Amino acid sequence: MTRQVTGQPPVRGRDAPERDPVYSLVGGFADGRLEADFRRSHHGWFNGRLITAGLLGGILYFVALLYDHAVLGDSNAYHWLFVDRLAVMAAGLWLAARAHYNGKRDRALPVFSMLAFELALALGFLGVVFLHGGSIVFHTMSMLAIVTVFYIFLPNLSTGQLLIPWVFSVAFLVIFRIAFEATSIELTIPVLLLLLSNLMGTFFVRLINRSQRGEYVTVQALQSLNAELRQEIADRKLVEARLRESEDNLKHLFEVAPVPLVLTRDRDGAILRMNHAASLLLRVEPGEISDLRTPDFYVDLREREQVITRLRTQGAVEGADVHLRTVDGKTIETMLTAVRTEYDGETVYFVGLVDISERKRIERELQRLARTDTLTGLHNRRSFFELAEREILRARRKRAPLALLLLDVDEFKQINDRFGHAVGDNALNSVVEAIGRCLREYDIAARIGGEEFAILLPEMSAEWGVDAAERVREAVAATPVTTPDGMIHLTVSIGVSAVDCNVATIDRALSQADAALYEAKRSGRNRVASADDGTQG
Ligand code: GH3
Ligand code: MG
Ligand code: MG
Repeated sequence: MTRQVTGQPPVRGRDAPERDPVYSLVGGFADGRLEADFRRSHHGWFNGRLITAGLLGGILYFVALLYDHAVLGDSNAYHWLFVDRLAVMAAGLWLAARAHYNGKRDRALPVFSMLAFELALALGFLGVVFLHGGSIVFHTMSMLAIVTVFYIFLPNLSTGQLLIPWVFSVAFLVIFRIAFEATSIELTIPVLLLLLSNLMGTFFVRLINRSQRGEYVTVQALQSLNAELRQEIADRKLVEARLRESEDNLKHLFEVAPVPLVLTRDRDGAILRMNHAASLLLRVEPGEISDLRTPDFYVDLREREQVITRLRTQGAVEGADVHLRTVDGKTIETMLTAVRTEYDGETVYFVGLVDISERKRIERELQRLARTDTLTGLHNRRSFFELAEREILRARRKRAPLALLLLDVDEFKQINDRFGHAVGDNALNSVVEAIGRCLREYDIAARIGGEEFAILLPEMSAEWGVDAAERVREAVAATPVTTPDGMIHLTVSIGVSAVDCNVATIDRALSQADAALYEAKRSGRNRVASADDGTQG
């Protein structure tokens, strides 16, 4: 609320330089508009003075008729004095009435009535002096009283008005000098007294006028400052209200956002706020939040350390894979995005979570499928090469032997030709089953061609590899395969090669095993041949 202040205060705002207003000779504001504002704001005081001066001055002046009558009796002079005093009293009452009327209606000061009253008083008193004549001392006393009324009881608003008592005093002295032929000696005291009282009066008027206006300027400045402060407070309240409103909106948005959002505190990992989606994801009951802390939700606290470190150093984390644990103990994989910010004077983290458990599962499944042979469930060729490289490195590190078997089903084409592809597929799976029974947990078997298989045997020399190959060969041969014509038995030929880990690549080992396999085929099938020494089973 801005309080309306009267007129234009000369000093506006706290930043405006302070400057003294310019005063006229009588001590009023030189700026007419400012002076008018000042007078309007002091109406009550001014009009009060005018009423007092008009009423009291007029009535007392009239009451002095008693003295006139006592001195002059019912003479002609007395009658003139009656008219004189009545006229002055009328001017006084007129002034009082105008001041009262104007004051009530907030009109400008009745300056004209005031001047009229002053002139009436001055001329009236000169009339009294003329009609009474006589003692200069006595009249000087009355004169001083009237001059005092001019200076003290009437507001002095212009230089012209200020001149009235001066002119009046001179006229008074001139009357005595000329009309009553007063001597210089007789006039000395009245002249000095009148000079002194006029000087003092003028000085007093200027002092009073200036100090009143100075006070007015200060009050106006303070009011203006006050209004500005009120405005500033109102503005600030408005801003605060808007902030609160936007904060409420943000809280609402936070609450209803479909993305799980959590607000956590840096200092102690406390959870300050969690939206509905987040409580669903983390299985948090509404009343539980205050008991929970961020570390409770991490499967691996090292992941939390990494997130916090990045938040503290960089202020944000974008799309970090984080393993979280729900309140009921289920592990979920999430993509975490967070920013560091200030809230209620504390460092907090605004965290968004996306549940990527399903996506990760599908990713893993796709990766597994990409490495798996769909017909047999063994590793496919690509996966075998990857795993083989790893096994070679491990064998080299451990200085352990590594054997490679290469298998090819004998005369397989005939199965397809006789019974069709489906039976052929089925037969392949029977072979794989038989192979599987002979292998250790950490042996690696892969289908690397149509009916060709490779098997890596870690920590096995070529010699032992030959033994293992024999067991595989026998197992396959012993395994019956169902066909439309009844049970048949398939056989395999196997080439064995030791993988020399210091020089070998898997390609080299495979070509050695292939050569051995060829040898096994050539020498009659259903056999094992070793690349190293041509051993045949
Ligand atoms: P060998 O003893 O010389 O190995 O004779 P083979 O008949 O097995 O000859 P080869 O290895 O050249 O023939 C491979 C056959 O395996 C050819 C193809 O019809 C068959 N085959 C390859 N992949 C598949 C498959 O995925 N399913 C079926 N059913 N047959 C396959
Ligand atoms: Mg083949
Ligand atoms: Mg074959």
